[in-house]
Amino acid sequence: MRLDRTIQPKTYDPYNKGKKSTEGIYCPQCRALYQHGRWKWPDKGDTFREPHLCSACRRIKDRFPAGEVLVSGKYLNRHRNEIVNLIQNVITEEENRSPLKKVISLTSENGTIRVSLTDDHLARHIGEALHKAYNGDLEVKYSEGERFVRLYWHRDE
Ligand SMILES: [Zn+2]
Repeated sequence: MRLDRTIQPKTYDPYNKGKKSTEGIYCPQCRALYQHGRWKWPDKGDTFREPHLCSACRRIKDRFPAGEVLVSGKYLNRHRNEIVNLIQNVITEEENRSPLKKVISLTSENGTIRVSLTDDHLARHIGEALHKAYNGDLEVKYSEGERFVRLYWHRDE
């Protein structure tokens, strides 16, 4: 019997973390490795089987964030570099721990900084870090029905 070549392509939801990926697949973009049911940074001696974009790199490619942080207020004018550094430090620290926590973009428009991220928890951690370091007002808005969070941090004084 011949194999049916018109088999439906496998449907794969890259954003669904609950769905099982295959052990040993690796991300050709960031070199993360899927092992023991999760994406992690490889160790020496790990084997890479076949390439497959991790969900974070898929989100970057599609520019489809799971979380956003909007930073605004007059305080930002005087402390911009400091604030951007703090945001980048949180991102670096969390990405070192998990390949799925990445920044999609960090842009500045009309005095507001917008940080788009591949992970909702990462967005929350950035908002909390800003609030802890500089007080100000922090507002958290979850989207109903989907896994998306937007945080607004604002300080004028
Ligand atoms: Zn990746």
